[in-house]
Amino acid sequence: MQVFKFGGASVKDAEGVQNVARVMQLMGAENKVMVVSAMGKTTNALEHIIDLYFAKDKMLHQAISDLKDYHYSILNNLFETKAHPAYTKLNYFMDELEVFLDRNKSPNYDYVYDQIVCFGELISTSLVSQYLKSVGIKNTWLDCRNLIDTDDTYRDAKVNWKRTQTKIKAHVDAGELFITQGFIGSDENNFTTTLGREGSDYTAAIFAYCLDAENVSIWKDVPGVLNGDPNVFKDTVLLNKISYEEAIELAFYGASVIHPKTLQPLQQKEIPLFVKSFYNPENAGTAVQRASLIEPLVPCYIVKKNLVLLSLSALDFSFFVEENMSEIFALFHKYQIKVDLIQNSAISFSVCVDNKFKNIDKLIEFLKAKFKVTYNKGVSLYTIRHFDQDAIDRIEKDKEILLKQTTRETIQFVVNE
Ligand code: ASP
Ligand code: MG
Repeated sequence: MQVFKFGGASVKDAEGVQNVARVMQLMGAENKVMVVSAMGKTTNALEHIIDLYFAKDKMLHQAISDLKDYHYSILNNLFETKAHPAYTKLNYFMDELEVFLDRNKSPNYDYVYDQIVCFGELISTSLVSQYLKSVGIKNTWLDCRNLIDTDDTYRDAKVNWKRTQTKIKAHVDAGELFITQGFIGSDENNFTTTLGREGSDYTAAIFAYCLDAENVSIWKDVPGVLNGDPNVFKDTVLLNKISYEEAIELAFYGASVIHPKTLQPLQQKEIPLFVKSFYNPENAGTAVQRASLIEPLVPCYIVKKNLVLLSLSALDFSFFVEENMSEIFALFHKYQIKVDLIQNSAISFSVCVDNKFKNIDKLIEFLKAKFKVTYNKGVSLYTIRHFDQDAIDRIEKDKEILLKQTTRETIQFVVNE
């Protein structure tokens, strides 16, 4: 079996869906599991819907109807007749979404979030499945929530590998083409869970691991993994080969091209991961596999934006000791704050953290009771792997550097932007 993952950008409009069909025709539609994300920016649109819902904002119904229209317009461009079953699927899921919002009593944001965002993937996969059938590509649609078994950590659910493997093996047979959703799963009580934003790559890896797949291909609008985001950095080059370890490092530092959790299951079974262009499916792209470092060996640039640099020292100017740190890390965990960089001195401790769950203000308030706290919001973290002086000069030029840290292979800068 092979696992193909198509992200939101690949199915953002009717041409995109038609192109996915072209890729499948070219690559052969047997022996494959296709994992497909929500179309275009649908997940963001659903996040907005959730916020409107909690705010009891009257724009909620408009936002829902805009989302429906977006999908309708794709269908109108794909199918000749409105009698096509794809329309029924779309209506069905949009109705389910509204029924949930009507009936829900839970004030638990994360739980509600997962019950709503899943519709992006459920709709996109149904529409893609229907379209492929209409052009003669036989396939079976699977509701991934019956396959990916997780705990109930909504928005960041942990996979139960054993149960997931049993279910996947029971539902997926070699020889056919299966289409399923990325990013979603379900907990013990059959409530929908999600694996974290951009989690569809991870889903592809879960399928590959459970099926002992030959390889995974992630189809993107870029030629493969570049040594930097071309929207941020000039003169980027394509990396032909990357070792698992190096790819894990790059993902850890924030290279958004591969989701950090995706690589570990693949590495364990040495399943190669290809990152390829859905515009040029014949091109080799990038292979992440058992290899040495990267080829070609060039500096790799990564930037994470909108972080918070937090510096703490004891109120009485005493030393900053292990006990303080373990207390602080327990708090980071409690407030779901991810730490990107740590630097400590005798009397102070600085961390660059993300604020994905928007808990930072609460945490800062809490910390102020015990520590002297200073912070900068909206900072960026630049990382260069395999740096040289030229690469450093490129980043340091015209920037206000708040903090700098060097290790053997990596240099990082926290920048005020
Ligand atoms: N649709 C989800 C997101 O945009 C999952 C994914 O695309 O990987 O985060
Ligand atoms: Mg996406």
